Amino acid sequence: MSIQTLPLKANGHELSHENEVTVLQFDGRASFSGIAHRCAVCDAKPTLQVTEDSVEVQDPCPYPNGITTEITLSVPSGKIVVTDDLRPVYRWERDAFADYNTVLGQAQVVEAMASIGCAYGPVGNSCPGLYRTGPDSYIIASPRCDEDDNPSLPEDTCLASICTDLWAYSIADFEHWKARGGDPGEMGWSDSVVDVAPGTYRFTHHSGEHGFDPYADETVIFAHIERIA
Ligand SMILES: [Zn+2]
Repeated sequence: MSIQTLPLKANGHELSHENEVTVLQFDGRASFSGIAHRCAVCDAKPTLQVTEDSVEVQDPCPYPNGITTEITLSVPSGKIVVTDDLRPVYRWERDAFADYNTVLGQAQVVEAMASIGCAYGPVGNSCPGLYRTGPDSYIIASPRCDEDDNPSLPEDTCLASICTDLWAYSIADFEHWKARGGDPGEMGWSDSVVDVAPGTYRFTHHSGEHGFDPYADETVIFAHIERIA
């Protein structure tokens, strides 16, 4: 029997912070510890091969740079409802996707929610806001404060604060939401209705990108929003 810790050649997958794996070899068979069972990005179970001086993952990760999700939201009414959670009006079937704790699983939910009319994106426990950055452009972001308590984004550009009980934002056309059963009389203190120019908006969501840091010292931008038509 032998136990050794070897460098991991992850082939683009995210399986271990240290990029090492402990290999136990016994009777010609190898078992592994110290790494995740599935890739945190693509949700695949890696096939590992022990070589002379490393452990290699056989198949490459299909998303070595993570995933940037781009969806569009149609806002004919010129009003959007902005909050963390628009269930049960917009709901995805949990079972249909990769694990939600992976980048791929979250990207699949973003796409599924967009297809039923809700711009959705995971933001962790960050309580971000919707900020105006131009006449037809916005960001969903968490500002930081400097030592004098000045926020990194001007407060008068904040159009809505998002309380993140669900660790996500959910944005929909106000009239579309009402037509599906949304009740303005039941909106909570952290639900907002924001006026925007009517049109089609592109949401570019960044939290699944390789190296994205929700705890960065600078303003964290979860999504860029732009009117494209
Ligand atoms: Zn992977």
